[in-house]
Amino acid sequence: MSEIPDITSPRKLNSLFQSYGLQPRRHLGQNFLIDANIVRKIIAAARVEEGDAVIEVGPGAGALTVNLARTGANLMVLEIDRGLIRLLKDLLRPWPEVEIIEQDVLKVDWKELIRRTITASGGIKLISNLPYNISAPFMYALFKDNFPFTVGLLMFQKEVAHRLIAAPGDNDYGALSVICGYYTEGIKLFDVSKNVFWPRPKVGSAVLRLQPRERELTGQEEGLFWEIVRGFFQQRRKTVLNSMSRLFPFSRNRLTDLLEKAVVFPGARPEELSVKQFAMLTRITYNYLSKYS
Ligand code: SAM
Repeated sequence: MSEIPDITSPRKLNSLFQSYGLQPRRHLGQNFLIDANIVRKIIAAARVEEGDAVIEVGPGAGALTVNLARTGANLMVLEIDRGLIRLLKDLLRPWPEVEIIEQDVLKVDWKELIRRTITASGGIKLISNLPYNISAPFMYALFKDNFPFTVGLLMFQKEVAHRLIAAPGDNDYGALSVICGYYTEGIKLFDVSKNVFWPRPKVGSAVLRLQPRERELTGQEEGLFWEIVRGFFQQRRKTVLNSMSRLFPFSRNRLTDLLEKAVVFPGARPEELSVKQFAMLTRITYNYLSKYS
């Protein structure tokens, strides 16, 4: 590749794919960005500067990657598709310092990867146009590892974006929203039309900014927090009292008492509880379990 092709031009992208014998693979959620303006907006929102440590997940054909490399960031990209890695290696030849890793991001031990590969005193920024099909498990895995980034600039299909930042009472509010709200402060930056991807997906996307927040619980309490949140939302039509009695072998009187101490109405449904209430209920239940079981 003698000069950098404009990857956001559908015609150029198509011919690049042809020359590498590639085709978009639906099962890998491959919808490539073909709008230079959106690429710029994402990178500007992350305020990427020379020397920043940045990890990009799913670089694809490099629409975001080339522009990230141009900032002089200390960049590592993780891509599962070997064909695209071939293309990326050629495309990123002018930036040999960019680390291109063939990796299924669902199998990453983030703490280990970060420790081994990037020495960044200022922390690490995570940037991705995420493949739709792995968005939720991917985010759960990051939260399990305590979201080890200073900021995440992440594009999701709209429905997942809304689930992540939903508030109590919203239709989309669920386990993913509570877990996301516990580990991070999330806001939607902007919507992205489905017309700026090739191939065009069925629905539009949205870009979120997630920033880690101070965690209220200890590591051990957090294990119980996940259990309670997931257990409650598995049966979201049940009252929280019924969910508690399914999860813990205590009398209903005792459970009512625990809920009241956590300022949670026993007849409430899980979608009415805030992140704070889930955290408080976890702490009180944890203390009770430590004392009596
Ligand atoms: N960043 C590119 C862009 O914006 O044009 C491509 C985004 S595309 C929505 C998602 C990318 O994630 C694809 O390149 C796909 O191959 C990659 N991908 C899918 N599943 C993956 C996984 N489990 N691990 C790593 N990369 C994955």
